[in-house]
Amino acid sequence: MTKQIYAFSEGNMNMRGLLGGKGANLAEMTNLGLPVPHGFTLTTEACHDYQEHQKLSDALLTELDTALDQLRQVTGKTFNSQTEPLLISVRSGAAISMPWMMDTILNIGLNDETVVALADLTHNERFAYDSYRRLLAMFGNVVYGLSEDGFDQILTTIKQQHGYASDLELTAEDLKQIVQQFKALYGTDNVPEFPQAPKDQLLAAINAVFESWNNHRAQVYRKQNHIAEDLGTAVNVQEMVFGNAGEDSGTGVAFTRNPATGEKQLFAEYLLNAQGEDVVAGIRTPQSIDVLKKEMPEMYAQFATIATKLETHYRDMQDLEFTIEHGKLYLLQARNGKRTPYAAVKIAVDLVHEGLISEAEALLRINPESVSAMLHPEFDPETLAKQTVLTTGLPASPGAATGQVYFTAAEAKAAAETGKQVILMRQDTSPEDIEGMIASKAIVTSRGGMTSHAAVVARGMGSTGVVGAHEITVDYQAKKAVVNHQEIHEGDWVSVNGTTGDLYLGQLATSDATVKGDLSTLLDWAKDTASMGVYTNADTPQDFQKALDFDADGIGLTRTEHMFFKPERLLQMRRLILAEDAEGRKAPLVELQRMQQDDFYQLYKLAGDKSVTIRLLDPPLHEFLPHDENEIQAVSHQTGITPERLRDRTNALKELNPMLGHRGDRLAVTFPDIYQMQVRAIMTAVLRLHDEGLEVHPHIMIPLTDSKSEMGWVRQLVEDQLTAMMADQDFKLAYTVGTMMEMPRACVTADQVAEASDFFSFGTNDLTQLTFGYSRDDVGSFMPEYIKQGILPADPFQTVDVEGVGALMKIAIEKGRSTKPELPIGVCGEVGGDPASIGFFNTIGITYVSCSPYRVPVARLA
Ligand code: PEP
Ligand code: MG
Repeated sequence: MTKQIYAFSEGNMNMRGLLGGKGANLAEMTNLGLPVPHGFTLTTEACHDYQEHQKLSDALLTELDTALDQLRQVTGKTFNSQTEPLLISVRSGAAISMPWMMDTILNIGLNDETVVALADLTHNERFAYDSYRRLLAMFGNVVYGLSEDGFDQILTTIKQQHGYASDLELTAEDLKQIVQQFKALYGTDNVPEFPQAPKDQLLAAINAVFESWNNHRAQVYRKQNHIAEDLGTAVNVQEMVFGNAGEDSGTGVAFTRNPATGEKQLFAEYLLNAQGEDVVAGIRTPQSIDVLKKEMPEMYAQFATIATKLETHYRDMQDLEFTIEHGKLYLLQARNGKRTPYAAVKIAVDLVHEGLISEAEALLRINPESVSAMLHPEFDPETLAKQTVLTTGLPASPGAATGQVYFTAAEAKAAAETGKQVILMRQDTSPEDIEGMIASKAIVTSRGGMTSHAAVVARGMGSTGVVGAHEITVDYQAKKAVVNHQEIHEGDWVSVNGTTGDLYLGQLATSDATVKGDLSTLLDWAKDTASMGVYTNADTPQDFQKALDFDADGIGLTRTEHMFFKPERLLQMRRLILAEDAEGRKAPLVELQRMQQDDFYQLYKLAGDKSVTIRLLDPPLHEFLPHDENEIQAVSHQTGITPERLRDRTNALKELNPMLGHRGDRLAVTFPDIYQMQVRAIMTAVLRLHDEGLEVHPHIMIPLTDSKSEMGWVRQLVEDQLTAMMADQDFKLAYTVGTMMEMPRACVTADQVAEASDFFSFGTNDLTQLTFGYSRDDVGSFMPEYIKQGILPADPFQTVDVEGVGALMKIAIEKGRSTKPELPIGVCGEVGGDPASIGFFNTIGITYVSCSPYRVPVARLA
């Protein structure tokens, strides 16, 4: 059997796996010569052995005797001694820190006799009995499962009898009485007597800590934090030092930098005359470290020096536990401190400037996802904790918003125009709702998944979005929604947390988040380091500007259809679709081209020398037509077309599966003049900018392609139009025409498709939809259950499905580049902004990702 116990002097910080985080750091600090009370660590292997055999092995017990003997030699103390009694703590410590999840027992070694000895030796009876009552409570709770309440109740009763406000007022006599009463909780039918022999206490404590690895709260914590079940915990046995030994003693916890803001300042809380558990458990409200600075300035200075030394040594912000016993300082723990995203960014950048870490290390220390929390407004966490969640949907677009509820886009827009803060709540949204969505602080739907229209648009605009909150039923007629028997009426205030998916009644306060200087520094470093480009999906100059503020490399996808939903454009679009023939389409096409060329002009102008990829029209035409009788009447009024004709035409265009229907480049084949118009609009915008001195090289993208012959056909259509205009204008244009890769068939024939394409861009939304056969707009009804049951590891619309969709991508990349080795290949579906997916894309040769503006910094860091 290998060695199972290491003295602190034998370990170091790289032995976390064997000694646990706490043990490894206690060893490291010991070897740095810092004042750490003596002790030793039982390894995680000893824990595995215990779990396998359900007992401490003979070999371990022999090693334990040796370790105790060594402890006796270095401390001069032994169990049961009347002159130098050895008192120890027993603490758990896994390789990955699991704060508060496992158990600790302090003051082991006290019994009815040593407590008297301790009182005599220290001339402090109060202290001795205070320590003993703590042992009795912790031991009873951890080893025998006695409830903490039973002990608390006794303490509270005695305090009440004497009218004490704080534990500090308990006298030695009170504490003796408490000890008697605590002991009376032992020795019942189910609970053995409190063991008087220190060695028995120690063995029982070690058993209990090994057992605590499998307690319920530890299991839950591991599951939530993806910590492996088989790591096991180490056990640290350490000589006690006493923060409760009098007014010249105390205990505290400290962060070497402010964990909320990252500011470089010692941030500590201190409790006079107390043991560590009092601080951590919040039993007494600690004082600021300034109290220590004032009352024991030397002690403070010594601690501050050690804190700096440790931070420099570990090259990261430290979370420290310390104790002062009769004016002597001891360190009980050091670990990298938990921090907010803001603090994480500031600390990483500051550490680079201080020369402690490299830029690359700083980048790797930031969880990319966490920075998205810095780019949106937030609710105050304390306020949130006091609220009741009304219902929860999918967290489609992060941020915090509060406003008055409206159930139609038109009413939302009208209310916003009167200066109201508006939340749009619907069963689902459609492209027509765009203006109401823009006017709203948040969008809430009861249906739909993470790539539903509402979700994509909310993320694109950077507004807060919760979708698929299926407990909500909207009654448009009655202008109300019902959630678990709770009614919400038009104009009622609700608050929406897009980061968690939670909804609340009422108006909660939000704070506007700003991008701090440190984040942009970090993003600059990321840009210098990254191998993949980060572009944005943007349809409007506002979206694009936001992305440029986040330093996007350009536009990877402009969905031109989103430009057609403004009212005056919708009208022309309807005229176009309703026209009898090509002749009838001419006039609306002229109008649409006029508007669209201005859209493109704006985007190109903003882009400057950055590239912009424009995708030609994608959605099924019927999306542009009126849906109900009211709308049919209104459109009839606007266009002069009879309601009958409108009804007929709408019915004619209706499809059973529109997402698999007459959309994308299939429209180009049946309505070539629409794509021709869009190409003319692009060319006209380019010419206008050429006149202004800006050379634009347009990238035109074709959606939904599934074969080389289809792509070749559409490419010809586009090129004929461009060639004609070039000849007409005597102008030579450098351009590319590429395709979305979003049909499985295109992926498996990508070598052929590449012959007609200058670039590929994976549309993973459609590719995932078609690979799984999941309707992307309807997954909300079953996806959460699939994830809960572990059938899927994650929503494949949010994190790429490596095995299936990823395999198709690999085929497409390999085949595409077998035809064109330099073929640029991007990803512009939603997963383009997902850190885990980006990790995968980096391994398969993706050139760039394109994502909604607010995802740009996250993607860049990933
Ligand atoms: C896609 O399918 O991934 C894509 C980017 O296109 P859209 O979402 O517009 O269908
Ligand atoms: Mg698509």
